[in-house]
Amino acid sequence: MKTGEAVKIKVGLGYDHHRLVQGRALVIGGIKIPFGLGALAHSDGDVLVHALIDALLGAKGEGDIGQRFPDSDPAYKDISSLELLRGVMNEIKESGLSVVNADAVIVLERPKLASFISGMKTNLCPILGIKPDQLGIKAKTGEGGGQTGQNLTIACWAVVLLGRFS
Ligand code: MG
Repeated sequence: MKTGEAVKIKVGLGYDHHRLVQGRALVIGGIKIPFGLGALAHSDGDVLVHALIDALLGAKGEGDIGQRFPDSDPAYKDISSLELLRGVMNEIKESGLSVVNADAVIVLERPKLASFISGMKTNLCPILGIKPDQLGIKAKTGEGGGQTGQNLTIACWAVVLLGRFS
């Protein structure tokens, strides 16, 4: 950003949390992760994408993902959350805003996610319109405590900074 350049920036915060159950695929950042449990959800239950969508909607001062894509609507049953993210990003671009950077923390006890993070970035960066060094994805465990620590749930927080440059 150049000195004196007019810029409008808007920050958004997103959070998501799902129960882990048998018989569901574990999808995070559009990557199917081999594991015996997956997120119980109407869509594919992708907590990372859901948190990013809520952060994007929040930055625009809009409602949450559940209002935008109701779980009572059969159109969203088992849908890839990447499709939902594409739709929201199209609206962001149409409004003249672009993503400056985004950062996320996934909380999952098992399995370890480190080896899947570059694949998540490969899926998400083109949709968000950013480069890999503009997207942070961290994976933490629950340290054995609470529902997440017992591998009963998966959670994710995300922040997104939007900017309008003129
Ligand atoms: Mg969700």
